[in-house]
Amino acid sequence: MSMNKWRFDNKSTRELPKDEEIDNYSRQVFNSFYSYAKPEQVKNPKLISFSKEVASILDLEEKDCLTEEFTKVFSGNQQLDQMNPHATCYGGHQFGNWAGQLGDGRAINLGDVINSKGDRWALQLKGAGPTPYSRSADGYAVLRSSIREFLCSESMFHLGVPTTRALSLINTGEEVMRDMFYDGNAHYEQGAVVCRVAPSFTRFGHFELPTSRGDIELLKKLANYTLETDFPHIGQGNKENYLKWFQEVATNTAQMIVHWMRVGFVHGVMNTDNMSILGLTIDYGPYGWLENYDPTWTPNTTDASGKRYCFGNQPMIAKWNLVQLANAIYPLIEDVKSLQDILESYSQTYLSGFNNMMANKLGFNVFNQESDQTLIDEIPKLLQIAEIDMTLFYRNISTLNLENNLSKEDIQVNLLPAFYKENELNDTILDKFYSWFLSYQKIFKNRNIKNDGRVNKMNSNNPLYVLRNYLAQEAIELSEKDDHSRVNELLDVLRNPYTEQAGKSKFAEKRPEWARVKPGCSMLSCSS
Ligand code: AMP
Ligand code: MG
Repeated sequence: MSMNKWRFDNKSTRELPKDEEIDNYSRQVFNSFYSYAKPEQVKNPKLISFSKEVASILDLEEKDCLTEEFTKVFSGNQQLDQMNPHATCYGGHQFGNWAGQLGDGRAINLGDVINSKGDRWALQLKGAGPTPYSRSADGYAVLRSSIREFLCSESMFHLGVPTTRALSLINTGEEVMRDMFYDGNAHYEQGAVVCRVAPSFTRFGHFELPTSRGDIELLKKLANYTLETDFPHIGQGNKENYLKWFQEVATNTAQMIVHWMRVGFVHGVMNTDNMSILGLTIDYGPYGWLENYDPTWTPNTTDASGKRYCFGNQPMIAKWNLVQLANAIYPLIEDVKSLQDILESYSQTYLSGFNNMMANKLGFNVFNQESDQTLIDEIPKLLQIAEIDMTLFYRNISTLNLENNLSKEDIQVNLLPAFYKENELNDTILDKFYSWFLSYQKIFKNRNIKNDGRVNKMNSNNPLYVLRNYLAQEAIELSEKDDHSRVNELLDVLRNPYTEQAGKSKFAEKRPEWARVKPGCSMLSCSS
């Protein structure tokens, strides 16, 4: 089906209050959910990549994505008849502080497509030019950050992590000025636009802003709209249903974070404006993937001193963000106790989700507290004794046959490739791992699990291929020289992250030494 046959239902712009000002300049916008904002024309748009899976969700075939019209539409150079380009108004807590109005500063929503299954999919261009919410920034995005968003959102989907999706990655042919490390070394970089796709892009911050301004009318309209559109099974907006809704948001958020902890994903900027009301991973900026297991690691240079958003803090920060959402919707509910109970339930849902997830990573179908708790609690300690690659650790231990007697040497040979400094695997450390393995094996035998079953369980929960920071950076450097083959190769490999693929072992290796301190590989800024 071609794009021209798409049926749009722009419910949010039809039903929610609109900013009457149509000129595009930075401003505070009151009593409105959105403002008119049109993508800028770009010089020379070229399609770098597209996701055939997202195309298919939108009833497009691959050939439809290779047309000139596709590139025109998703670079922002042309709008389809029923599109209604706009930017939405939201606020947020950034690094723990209320930041006031933020809004879609470089995201332009095109409209919602209703696909042949009747599902709603909102289309959004990221980097298509300034909007009334751009504040002092330019509204554009550079190639490197667009590649990172495009590849990571698709990779997360294939890993089974709730996420917004990406349809296309287009080079605009424009130049964009960026100071990558905010150190006075600004230079021109290539511009790009990604088309993001999700059932909705509503964020916690959409609810926070009206409440902060005492605009309860707008808050209520938006909450009712969200219930009706994104949570239709709950029913209409009333106190009881708002609570049910908040409960769902809390549960979905907990589940999303469990997945992040499973695959070793660090979002990097968990501000409340970057939290999706649907519990989707959203806004791929200075995110990163854990290499050596270090719960204090964050890729975001802006957060290097406080490490607020480091790997290990993510579960707690998500709760902090839910508290902000609870405050925002409080005027609709006016019942502190019920909101607090739901916030408490977040901790329970997260904890049981985490334990089950860890049990699955070890190849158990279910978590058995009595036998598994200590075993699981030992893992973070073990993995921090030395620099040990988290992804490789889990994949490697799945290859040990626990039905056999295992010697210390077996463990040593198995673990060595996961050690960043191989000489760190000395006798003392090896002894600790060995004794952990013996307990693991004992539980395994007591439960009467077949090794095959364990391996299958492990290999469907522990990815082999993740978008390691340096892999993304290598693809970026090639693309900046007009060679997009690596972006497309990675997109393809990451489609099947749990299955070993012939000839692709180089994408499953631990980070090479040169990437340890290289910008873009180990540290990233918000400049994008
Ligand atoms: P982020 O940290 O990327 O989530 O962005 C926080 C806020 O800054 C949001 O309102 C973004 O829309 C806005 N923003 C980030 N980068 C740009 C940019 N290059 N141009 C305009 N607004 C931006
Ligand atoms: Mg954001």
